[in-house]
Amino acid sequence: MTDVIALDKEYVAGSYARFPINIVGGKGSELIDNTGKKYIDLASGIAVNTFGVADEQWSAAVKSQLDAFQHTSNLYYTEPCALLAKKLCEKTGMKKVFFSNSGAEANETAIKAARKYAADKKGKDVYKIITLKNSFHGRTHTTLAATGQETFHEHFLPLTDGFVHIEPNADELMNAVDDKTAGIMFEVVRGEGGVLPLEKDFVDAMVKIAKEKDIILIADEVQVGNGRSGMLYGYMNYGFMPDVVTTAKGLGGGLPIGATMLGEKVENIFTPGLNGSTFGGNPVCCAGAVNIIDRIDDKLLAEVKEKSEYIFNTLTGADGIESVTGLGLMIGVKTTKPAKDVVAECIDRGVLPITAKDKVRLLPALNIPFDMLKYAIDILKEVCAD
Ligand SMILES: *Cc1c(COP(=O)(O)O)cnc(C)c1O
Repeated sequence: MTDVIALDKEYVAGSYARFPINIVGGKGSELIDNTGKKYIDLASGIAVNTFGVADEQWSAAVKSQLDAFQHTSNLYYTEPCALLAKKLCEKTGMKKVFFSNSGAEANETAIKAARKYAADKKGKDVYKIITLKNSFHGRTHTTLAATGQETFHEHFLPLTDGFVHIEPNADELMNAVDDKTAGIMFEVVRGEGGVLPLEKDFVDAMVKIAKEKDIILIADEVQVGNGRSGMLYGYMNYGFMPDVVTTAKGLGGGLPIGATMLGEKVENIFTPGLNGSTFGGNPVCCAGAVNIIDRIDDKLLAEVKEKSEYIFNTLTGADGIESVTGLGLMIGVKTTKPAKDVVAECIDRGVLPITAKDKVRLLPALNIPFDMLKYAIDILKEVCAD
């Protein structure tokens, strides 16, 4: 039998510190490795497999499009792309959607939209984008510049100019905004940065200043979006409308897709030739995403909230657990033991959480069965306690 781990180590670029597990299949929230060991998946491919693996409905939607045709180009119209854009706009109040292939690309387009809006309206020297410390916006050069964590920057300098990073508090925001500010980009729950939700007061301050100064508000919903927060998009928990919403990860349910939703102010910012992506709006990815979006209904969202409450109630104040933060099924657990030791012990016991900085991070599929979730959370709790 092929030694996959040895093969990967020899030929795949060393960008990832992988766990020594070779996944060969699974169903829903259960994964199976090449030794036949089963795991309960509490990470869903980093918030990607919205309905777990090998989901029958999603697979059927994808396969049906795959058999019709897998790709054309953006020189022609296709139904899955148009239909997905309509659904996203109807459910959010956004006006138009630009499709790409990843979260980083969705954010690149959002940054372009904010800069072009400001340049058109106020002049070319209005290009500054404010982002948050401990944010994560992607791995392209410009989204790295947007990312408010030095450790991601250090080997790739100089990065794209014009980004300012602040702590999410109103004072720092007021100091940072000036007449060069084109946009403010934020995750309502910073995922990679430690699963840190924004305070309502800060969001209110941001919305107020953006309105006063005509600054574009960009909600990066790549991780928190698509039902994970208990609402379709995370910003909906705070009761305001961003000007641009970006998403990716869970929208595709397991195939690569990025979406930049453009609100009223920027709906016509892109004219032919101004932005593009060869695979953007790929019909197979979009057909899968239509199935995902259709199934994130009130019933599913109520289940997400119920499961979230169960996790918060079970883990908050438990032995070896210092704090539990997050929203919906995007949860960070600060443990007394180092997070990576907790994850390693959980893996031994057949449960797969991941980390976010110094925390254990939980991002289960939205439809993880309740009894399976309870079983996995009990194991996590035991591991944290001893
Ligand atoms: C994962 C993530 C990204 C980057 O998405 P990719 O698809 O890996 O490019 C951007 N923003 C947030 C909030 C993310 O969690």
